[in-house]
Formats: sequence, C-alpha cells, structure tokens
Amino acid sequence: MSEVERETAASAPNDSRLEELVEEIIAGDRRLHDLPSDLSAVDAATVRRLALERINDTSLANVGCFSLDARRASTRHCENFIGVTQVPVGVTGPICIRGDFVDPAEALYVPLATTEGALVASTNRGCRALREAGGAVVSVEDVGMTRAPVFRTSGIADNRRFLGWVTANKERIRAVAESGSRHLKLVEIRPQTLGTSTYLRFRFASGDAMGMNMATIACDRVVRELIEPETGVECLALSGNFCVDKKASAINFLEGRGKRVHAEVVLEGPVLERCLKTKARDLVEVQYRKNLMGSIAAGAIGFNAHYANILAAFYIATGQDVAQVVEGAMGVTTIEPRGPEGVIASVYLPDLPLGAVGGGTALDTQAEALALLGIPPKGGKPGEAVLRLAEIAAATVLAGEISLLAALTEHHLAEAHERLGRGSLPPES
Ligand code: NAP
Repeated sequence: MSEVERETAASAPNDSRLEELVEEIIAGDRRLHDLPSDLSAVDAATVRRLALERINDTSLANVGCFSLDARRASTRHCENFIGVTQVPVGVTGPICIRGDFVDPAEALYVPLATTEGALVASTNRGCRALREAGGAVVSVEDVGMTRAPVFRTSGIADNRRFLGWVTANKERIRAVAESGSRHLKLVEIRPQTLGTSTYLRFRFASGDAMGMNMATIACDRVVRELIEPETGVECLALSGNFCVDKKASAINFLEGRGKRVHAEVVLEGPVLERCLKTKARDLVEVQYRKNLMGSIAAGAIGFNAHYANILAAFYIATGQDVAQVVEGAMGVTTIEPRGPEGVIASVYLPDLPLGAVGGGTALDTQAEALALLGIPPKGGKPGEAVLRLAEIAAATVLAGEISLLAALTEHHLAEAHERLGRGSLPPES
C-alpha cells in the first residue's frame, strides 16, 4: 500500500489504541502534542486529525493525503503535525540566465507554487522576453546572515567598557561562534547603541544554508559562554530586531542581508512588441509613475511592482522560509530608454535570504523542485549552490516584473486575471 493510500485509509479508525487516544483528546484528558513517544508520526497525525474532525464536525480527508516523510516533517518542521496543505505548483521557462553560476544554454524551468491565477502565465511571458533578448544578466553577492542580540548597560561609561571588551575579544568571539558548525564564518560585529540598549549585529557567511538557525545558535553560545560571564552585561533578547529578520527595514535595504542580487536585460523594440505587446515609452512611463512616484507617495520601502508574488511562489516551491519574503520583496526596479525603441530593465534585491540546504529544502517535494533547478549542482564548490539559486530567483523576479509592467501599459491586468484567475472549471469539476 502506498503512503497516500495508507493515509487515506487511516481516516477510518481501525486501531483500538488510536481510537482510545482520539477519545482522550476529545474528552480533554490529553493534549494534541502529548501523544505517546512510540507512536509513529503517521499515526500521531491520524489521531490528531480524527479528534479534530469529530470535535469540529468537519472532514480533514485531503489534509491527510500526503507522500512526504511524516517523521521528518513532524520532528524538524512542524509540531502538532496533522498532514499537508497542497499548493498548486507550475513551471515557468525555460529561463535564460547569464550568471556566474547559471549558463545561458541551460534549459531551466522554474517551479512556482501559488494559488494566484495568471502569475505563472505572466512570468512565463517574461521568460520568453528574456530568452528572445539573449538572457538576463545576473550578479550575486553573499552579504551574510545577521542576528543582533540586545544588551542592557547602565549608561555611556558602561557601554564604552562593554564595546571595548567586544573589540578586544573579537577573535575569542569568532572561535566560539564558529565552533558549532562546519560552514559558519563570522564576518562582522556591528554595534549600535540607543540609551542603555546596545545591539551587536553579528554577520555570518553560512555556506549554502540560509543560516538563520546557525547564526542564532552561534550567537546564543557566544552570549552565554563569553559575553555575559566576562562583561556582566545582560543580554535581554537573542534577537533584538536590529537583525532584521522578517521585517522590512532600512538597514537591510542599505547594507543587504542574505544575498544581494542584480538582474538586468536589454529589450529591443521588436522583443517588446512581440513578447510583451508594449512599447518602450509606455513601459518607462508606467515604471516611473507606478514603481517610483507611487511608491514614494505610499512611503514604501522598495520600489517595485510585485517581487513578493514571484518570491513567495518560489520560496514555497523550494522550501525557503516564506516569512522572509517580507524582507526579500524590498528592492528597486529600473526601466530606462535604450536605443531608439528599446529599454534596459533591471531589478535589485538587496536582502534575499535563501538556502540550498537546511530549513525546508530537504522536504520531499521541495527537494524535487530544487533538483529541477540543478540544486545541488553537480561538482560545484560549497557555497555555490545557494548563489546559483539566488541568480535564478532574481532572474525570475525580473521576468515577472517586466511582464506585469507591460500588462499595465496595455491595460491587460484585470483582463488576464479575469480570464486566468477566474477561468471556467472543466466539466469533471
Ligand atoms: P539549518 O537546517 O538549521 O542548518 C543548516 C545545516 O546544514 C547545518 O547543520 C549545516 O551543517 C548543514 N550543511 C550541510 N552542508 C552545508 C553547506 N554546504 N553549507 C551550509 N550548511 C550545510 O538551516 P539554517 O539555514 O541555519 O536555518 C534555516 C532554518 O531556520 C529555517 O527552517 C528557518 O525557518 C529557520 N529560522 C530560524 C530562526 C531562528 O531564530 N532560529 C529564525 C528564522 C528562521 P554545519 O552546522 O555543520 O555547518
């Protein structure tokens, strides 16, 4: 029996032990997370689902249909595991990229997981334009992952002593921080003081991993083993919000976080007309009035049309931490006239946290999506896989950006969403 069949069959209670546990939860004698440790992850999920189905008089039959490794999912990724939410995944491409880690000759199809009709089709149209223009030129830089604990000092003199100690002991801090990982390297400690609050923004290179767990674990070790005992200054919170994780912020916009990526393409007049049904002049004006002036009017951090759309779909498909789209979606699109009828279009993503290993990347469907992108690359050096992933992400954002802006110039946005996002269902539905 396949895993899926087993899961579906498990919706009916055929095991007296499971039935007993379900009844205990319903009676309030047992909590959902308090199941016997010898119960398999699949059975534990079944018990929780059955209890919820009866308590709420609803069906969770589809949530219980899955093929992923329930033990891995429930121990590493999701507590109180009951099953899965399925998100449709489509592909866009081939996308042509001229990067340091992607060859333009590769036939690269990018998986995007989304429920927004028209998103994949629109990005696909952008990919065609990139192909016909000879590819997106991409440049990626590893800025590093940051974590900033906040400390309480008694005032200026104490703060001066504290920061003096940090400077004098940087190599000892480095040794402790790097001791728990084969891949984590301390790059910088950037202090910031406000009154009696002092933040130490640690920045690490984290190899192919996004690095947030690695950085947090390293900071915890440094704080507990070195900083607190030797300075007597207390750390109030391991994350002091000067990191800045999962929030849009000026410091990440200016200094970068994770990967900092540029992607650009020159679109000649015939490509604009054939692939994007638009003209250079219209595209430049919509870019100016929408992405620049509109964003200024709104006080936005970031000047773009919809980085969040492409990044969220890319992150879900490839096992990234989706909440980091909040920071990843900051960035600037430019579109300038080039030649008589063309434009040069670019996207700049200063804060793109993502990983080719770690986090959700090893989950079954996410690992398959990464493999489709040639991750991990065959024969690459450590650290190169994530740079390749960042190049692909940025080029896909560029494809999505030029396509949406072109649709706006031709007033096709509502029409495309109505046609593709509200399309009539096939008869069998
Ligand atoms: P992780 O899965 O916790 O750690 C990555 C692991 O991959 C490490 O054990 C590392 O080994 C190993 N590894 C193997 N090959 C590697 C390579 N080539 N490069 C780098 N590492 C390699 O992942 P993470 O990236 O540190 O953190 C991502 C997770 O953090 C996500 O699940 C995210 O949701 C979560 N997160 C955590 C926090 C937090 O505060 N803790 C905040 C936001 C998000 P070594 O350690 O031996 O190098």
